Formats: sequence, structure tokens, C-alpha cells
Amino acid sequence: MSPIHFSLPTQVFLETDAVAHHAALFARGKKAMIVTGRTSAKRNGAQDDVVAALAQHQIPYVLYDAVPSNPGIATCYEGARLAKESGADFVIAIGGGSPMDAGKAIALLAASPLTRDQLFTGPYTAALPLIHIPTTSGTGSEVTPYAILSDDEAQTKRSIATPLLFPQVALLDPKYQAQLPHRTTVNTALDALSHNIESMLSARRTPLISALAASGIRAFAETRAALADGTLTMDDRTRLLYASLTGGIAIAHTATNIVHALGYSLTYFRHIDHGRANALTLATYLDFLEHRAPGVTAPILSATGQHDLAAFHAMIDALIGKKEPFTTEEIDRYVPYAFASKNSHGAIIDTTREDLRALYQDSLLA
Ligand code: NAP
Ligand code: ZN
Repeated sequence: MSPIHFSLPTQVFLETDAVAHHAALFARGKKAMIVTGRTSAKRNGAQDDVVAALAQHQIPYVLYDAVPSNPGIATCYEGARLAKESGADFVIAIGGGSPMDAGKAIALLAASPLTRDQLFTGPYTAALPLIHIPTTSGTGSEVTPYAILSDDEAQTKRSIATPLLFPQVALLDPKYQAQLPHRTTVNTALDALSHNIESMLSARRTPLISALAASGIRAFAETRAALADGTLTMDDRTRLLYASLTGGIAIAHTATNIVHALGYSLTYFRHIDHGRANALTLATYLDFLEHRAPGVTAPILSATGQHDLAAFHAMIDALIGKKEPFTTEEIDRYVPYAFASKNSHGAIIDTTREDLRALYQDSLLA
């Protein structure tokens, strides 16, 4: 058996009313900074629950509610300036991956004097403590040491990776997703599926992580019909939160690889949602790997309940619907970014630039 390494410094609770049940965990400092997107945290009840938990401990807070989707560097410096000016000594991030990642970068920048050049490389010395409350089921950011930011200078999405970014606490409650738009539900579920699958196809995979990831894929598969027709129950929402959680824990150990490397340009240049950007190349990537290393996709197919790769393609196609048109010129532009991404070299099989080009072509031009 290959060597096993497993660690998760985050206390995780997945249950209805998680914030109220674990309000004591919010007594973590003298002043909190709540980081959210523009609207959803106010509408879905998560922000009110957090404010009530803080009030129980007489902890004041400052609100930074300006995080856009796919946040950039300037947003995080602005949030960190507010955190420092207001004297916040811990961060509570509520939302999808965008506010959760911005909250991480803010916690880092508020505690470490990092220049823009050092932001993605370190040295990282300190971060404010973090509490994460995910309101989508996709990124698993609540249990990863990563923050992914759009970098306009590099014209791509880049990741900050340091164990300082692991939240101390993650509170997962499906009730916040009752009004999550169908498209976002599907796209984020596909992100969770990609994380679980890519971890099983990583050079750093272990039996322990693969077993966890496979359980997340099975949870995803149980919701498949409801995901397709938009009839998710709260039990389905809980299954997807679980799939997102296992995906996050899995990539915290293995990182993501080719599918994410290919997806970043689709989001950066074409504004395609992160999870959908991954799903556009996921099935073709499985074909590619199976061709190079026969049998390698069998555990994934088994967890999804699909008997072959054609059935896997059909499952993904049904969820993504009509694909966006792409040109060969666009693909030529994306290949160097995918090849330069640090994600593109951690998979079971190494890929060349030409492999990446073929993956884009077979996925997007077919
Ligand atoms: P998102 O950009 O956080 O949110 C997408 C949309 O959903 C926003 O309009 C948001 O509104 C809305 N929304 C969120 N929760 C909602 C709810 N409960 N009800 C109704 N609407 C809700 O999308 P995401 O897919 O979760 O996150 C994507 C980001 O995560 C990308 O930047 C990606 O690179 C990153 N990511 C990070 C990791 C990691 O390990 N750190 C892993 C994968 C992906 P508001 O703006 O109003 O909140
Ligand atoms: Zn992802």
C-alpha cells in the first residue's frame, strides 16, 4: 500500500441549524469581520444566523459585503484594509467559493504584510483565524488550504496555497441553499464532482482519500435525477454538501489537476461558471486517461453508477446542456495558460502541451 498522509485542521459540522447549534465556536476574538457576496448571504438567512451567534457573545463585527464572483486581488486588499482599520481579529466568510476564498486572502493580508508579487508565493507568516459557512455545494473551500483569485496581470486564475488558509471551523447547513438558482446548483455540483474525480486521478492519491472521494461521487450520483430536473429535496442538498465536503478534503491532500488547469481560461476569458468550466472537459479527460492507462477510470465509473465512459459522457452532457461555441484561435490562446498552471502537472499521467490542446479541441470543438 502507498504511504498514507491525512490531516484536517478544520472542525466540521454538517447539520441543519449548524450555526445556532455551535454558536459557542464564534467566541474566537474581540471583533469579527464578516465577508460575503453582495446579496445571497442576506437573503438566505446565513448572515442573520451569524450575527445572532456573535450577539450571544457580545462580539462586535464589521461587514465587508462586496465580494464579486471570481474575486480579484484588489477586492482582497480592500477587505484587508478594512479588517485592519476596524481592528477585526478573526474572519467569518459566508457564501460560495468566491466570498470564502476572498475571506481567506483577506485573513492572510490582514496579518501578513504581503506585496502583490508575494501574494501567490509567500513567504506566508500569519493569517487571522477563519470560520467558513458555505452556501453553495461545490468548492469545498471550507476545508482546503487554497484561495483562488483572478489575476488580471497574469490573465488567469491563480491559487494561494498555505496551511494558514485552513479555516478553524466549517459550518455546513443545507437550509441556506433552499433558493439557490438551479443553474448554480448544477454548476457547483459539477465542481464538487470534478474535485472528487481529479483527486482519484492525482499522482498524490491514496486509498484513504480515494475512498472518501468515491463516497462523495456516490452522494452526487444519488442526486443526479433531481439535479437534472431541478427537484432537489433538502436530503439531496445535504448529499451535495457532503460531496462538496469530500471533494474539498480530497483536493486539500492531492490538489486539483488537468480539468481545473483547462477550466481557468474558460472562466477568465469567457466568464463561464467555474464548475461548468470544469464539466466541459471532464468526460473527455476521462476518455484520454482510459486510453493511456486502461482501467484507471473504472473506480470512478463504478462510484457514479455508469457502466462505461459513453454513459458518463451522457450524464455530464445532460447536466450541462447546450455547449458554448469556441474557435481554434481561442484554444490556441488558452493552451499556454493551461500548461503554465501549476495544476497541470499533478495527475496520474503527465500531459504535454499537445495533449492539452487535443483535450480542449475534443471537448469544445466537437
Ligand atoms: P460563487 O461565485 O461564490 O457564487 C455564485 C453565485 O451564487 C453568486 O451570484 C452568489 O451570490 C450566489 N449564491 C451563493 N450562495 C447562494 C445561496 N445560498 N442562495 C442563492 N444564491 C447564492 O460560486 P462558487 O461556484 O461557489 O465559487 C466559485 C469560486 O470558488 C471560484 O472563484 C473558484 O475558482 C473558487 N474555488 C475555490 C476552491 C478552493 O479550494 N478554495 C475550489 C474550487 C473553486 P452572492 O454574490 O450575492 O453571494
Ligand atoms: Zn473547483
